[in-house]
Amino acid sequence: MASRIVAVYATIESSAIGGRTTVYTRPLARLIEQLQHLPGVGPKSAQRLALHILKRPEEEVKALAMALMEAKLQVGFCSVCGHLSAEPVCEICRSPQRDAKTICVVAESRDVIALEKTREYRGKYHVLGGLISPIDGIGPEQLNIKQLVRRVSQQKVEEVIIAISPSVEGETTTLYVGSLLKPFTRVTRIAFGLPMGGDLEYADEVTLARALEGRRVLD
Ligand code: ZN
Repeated sequence: MASRIVAVYATIESSAIGGRTTVYTRPLARLIEQLQHLPGVGPKSAQRLALHILKRPEEEVKALAMALMEAKLQVGFCSVCGHLSAEPVCEICRSPQRDAKTICVVAESRDVIALEKTREYRGKYHVLGGLISPIDGIGPEQLNIKQLVRRVSQQKVEEVIIAISPSVEGETTTLYVGSLLKPFTRVTRIAFGLPMGGDLEYADEVTLARALEGRRVLD
C-alpha cells in the first residue's frame, strides 16, 4: 500500500507559473515544458495549449503528432535555392512561370513566405539560411552563399534583389553578398520604409510590395 502511494505522488510535480505554484501530473508537465520551447509561447500559453490538447479527441491529437513528425522528417531544403521543400527541388524553382532572370536573396525561408504573400514578385529566390554574424560565429562559409554565386555566375541572371533587413548583420551580409555578385549582374536592394532592423515577416504585404517596387541599385 505504501509503495502505491509513493508511485502516485511520483507522478506529480510542481512548477511555477506566473509566480504561483501549480501542480501537474508528470506527462502534462512534460507536454507544457515542450510547448514552452516554441517561439512566443510562455508558461501561461503553454499550459493553455496543453490543457486544450488534452480535451481534444484522440484522433485529433494523433493527427497533430503525426503532422509534426511528418513535417520534420519530410521537409528539407531545395538543392537549388535553399528554401524549405519536401522535394529535392522546390516548387518555385521548378515553375516555368517564374522569371529565372531575377533572383531575390533573403535570409530565411520565412522571408520567402512573406514575399510570396504580396503576390507581387514573379522571380526566383535564394535563401541564405541566416546572416553573417561574427559574434555568433557565423561566417559566409556557414551560409548558402557559394551556391548563390555559382547560380548567378553560371546562369543568365539579369538582376539580384537583396531583401535583407538593415540590421548590423543584415548590412554586413548585404554588402558582402553584393560585392561577390556585382561582377556578374545588376544588384539591387529593396527600399526599406520598413523599420530599422525590422524583419520582413513583420512588414505588412503592402509595405513589402512597395519596398520591392522601390528597390535601388546597391552602391
Ligand atoms: Zn528552390
